[in-house]
Amino acid sequence: WIAFSSVIATGAQTSPFSAEAKQKAESLLKQMTLDEKVGQLNESSGLVIPGLAKEKPDDLIAKGGVGSILWQMDVKEINRLQHIAVEKSRLHIPIIFGFDVIHGYRTVFPVPLAMASSWDPSVEEQAQHLAAQDARAAGIDWTFTPMVDIARDARWGRIVEGAGEDPVLGSAMAQAQVRGFQGPKLGQDSVLVTVKHFAGYGAADGGRDYDSSYVPEELLRNVYLVPFHAAVQAGAGGIMSAYMDLNDVPASGNHWLLTDVLRKDWGFQGIVLSDALAVGNLVTHGYASGGEDAAYKAITAGLNMDMASLTYSQNLAKVVKDGRVSEAYIDQMVLPILEAKFDLGLFDHPYVDEASVDAVLNRPEGIALERKLAGRSMVLLRNENRTLPLSKDLKKIAIIGPLADAAHDIEGGWTVEGLFGKGSKSHPVTVLAGIRNRLGTDAQITLVAGPQPSKVYTSMLDQFTGAKSTPPSTPQETAEWIAKAKAAAADADLVVAVMGETASMSSEASSRASLDLPGIQEQMLEAIVGVGKPVVLVLENGRPLDIHWASEHVPAILEAWYPGTQGGDAVTDVLFGDVNPGGKLPVSWPSASGVEPLYYNHNLTHDPEDRPSFTSRYWDVSSKPLYPFGYGLSYTAFKFSNLHLSKNRMSVSDGNEVSVDVTNTGSIAGDAVAQIYIHQRYGSASRPVRELKGFERVLLQAGETKTLRFPLGTEQLHFWSPQSKTWVVEPSDFDVWAGGDSTASLHAEFKTTQ
Ligand code: BGC
Repeated sequence: WIAFSSVIATGAQTSPFSAEAKQKAESLLKQMTLDEKVGQLNESSGLVIPGLAKEKPDDLIAKGGVGSILWQMDVKEINRLQHIAVEKSRLHIPIIFGFDVIHGYRTVFPVPLAMASSWDPSVEEQAQHLAAQDARAAGIDWTFTPMVDIARDARWGRIVEGAGEDPVLGSAMAQAQVRGFQGPKLGQDSVLVTVKHFAGYGAADGGRDYDSSYVPEELLRNVYLVPFHAAVQAGAGGIMSAYMDLNDVPASGNHWLLTDVLRKDWGFQGIVLSDALAVGNLVTHGYASGGEDAAYKAITAGLNMDMASLTYSQNLAKVVKDGRVSEAYIDQMVLPILEAKFDLGLFDHPYVDEASVDAVLNRPEGIALERKLAGRSMVLLRNENRTLPLSKDLKKIAIIGPLADAAHDIEGGWTVEGLFGKGSKSHPVTVLAGIRNRLGTDAQITLVAGPQPSKVYTSMLDQFTGAKSTPPSTPQETAEWIAKAKAAAADADLVVAVMGETASMSSEASSRASLDLPGIQEQMLEAIVGVGKPVVLVLENGRPLDIHWASEHVPAILEAWYPGTQGGDAVTDVLFGDVNPGGKLPVSWPSASGVEPLYYNHNLTHDPEDRPSFTSRYWDVSSKPLYPFGYGLSYTAFKFSNLHLSKNRMSVSDGNEVSVDVTNTGSIAGDAVAQIYIHQRYGSASRPVRELKGFERVLLQAGETKTLRFPLGTEQLHFWSPQSKTWVVEPSDFDVWAGGDSTASLHAEFKTTQ
């Protein structure tokens, strides 16, 4: 095999900041004292959280001791603090304010896993562009987005915050978010991104959030790091180092990760920010002996800014004075922070225009865009006997389930209103409200919510949302709810069950050991299906759930994820056929909780002939997914044909192109997502059975055919070889498949030669 260098393998990032900003930052640096430099490396918390922020940072700001503040959402307070920085500090350096603008600010878009289900990067780009405008108007200049962690284990709660299990889909979504937030170049309207959590956070042992990750270098390079590198190449100005130990070295003190890979291999010139308290936690991890050692280990690993632990503030100057770290090195670490502030226009326009905030946040175009993007994100999992779309003449509907009218839950986690507990200003439309909007007052709509699923242990974020642990329903309560649900179903022409997880059951610190429908939802569902009326199950959830019973007994299942502010209207757009669903799964859907981690791009573990020996399988359940990665139905049908390669033999350094026709064979227009997968049959390492290498979502009118082309050159064929420890394209035989999901059967092959 031969090694080669491509942009992906070793290419340098061109600085995310402008030459002008660099010049200004360098000249400012010359005037700064060591303490002022250390101040820029400190991000203080805007909230007084036990153990996090100890005091109001006014005095520290006046001394130049605060470079950034996170989680300060009160516009007046933002201005007050900024006035201190700009008017009272010696060098008048503005503060950069950061927050997790994950899927919208006032207008809440679908959660990231949902947006990835669109398989349409422009969905992310449009949403994040609008979110950036909103956030910036409200004084937030820096977002801790996008989360690009690959998640192969649905038990991990943060799977909802990313793009799922695939590095190619994940890279496209990561780059789209960078473009959406930062725009073509950083300026007064853009928001600086932080690509997180670098790296391997999604590989937490057992899917337990914050647990250690053990990921060999080849798996990091070939899978987990890929979307990070893509985001860096798209110009991301920030990276967040993860909480956990990666191969026994905490990510936030990991020199290999933050310097060797990120800066040397990829040429990253932006800001590395720690996750909250992660620098201080180097001590908790048993990696640093105390604050000073933690500050030393983090800064020399390549971490610019300490989020909220004050470890840099309190120790870094001493580390420099002792001669363990040079001041010139500190200058390098401060430089990108100042550059970002110059490019964002903070020196010229440090304050929020309080009078215009509401007008920006309440723009009607946000609402319209939200509904459209939510519709593009939904995945139709099952539709027996054309249960969907529904007739607009329905007169009697029963709507059943705890999520049917749960306004907070339909928006998902990480919302400003949700976190700050002020009640929603964004007026989310629930599925119940959406169906009422659609059918008007003539229809009889009966709601039986049932109890909220109980949570045994509350999560760390529940301290903000106020969510409490709740006891499970008693047998008597369960029986009563089931009786009510059955009566409502019996009296209706159709039942819409809206079930899944409350928003706080997924996201940070919200891992689940079981993927079942929590609480008494499964029992309610089985009871109402038993009544014999048509049932449509609408899922609101942040991870694939164990719905193996529903997948055989409920005729129609629509995965809505947490679809956002207009979620209820968007769900009804799909249920009633105004929107033809085109979303596809960004994750392999398990048939049982115990099969996790589950991902399609594993190595060959099955005997191709399926003989019983030496094949990875369980004794009790199928290890095959219930629904494969890339899967999703439409109200029309598509056919893939004419799969061709421009070359059937190519040299390892050559390019190739694959083309395929996709035809809408049904009678209405619809979106297909063409997907190209490859497999390298042999080489210096076992390669995955399939790997996604290209995809495109296309609208096809009834009867229409489009020919789609995808490159298959070195960038698609290379991988990091554990033997040569470098990127290689090898002489081998390759399979290519094209189709509508990861089980696509349309096949071709080609050969690479030296
Ligand atoms: C999370 C990050 C987040 C940070 C600040 C941490 O607990 O892991 O994803 O950006 O808090 O809110």
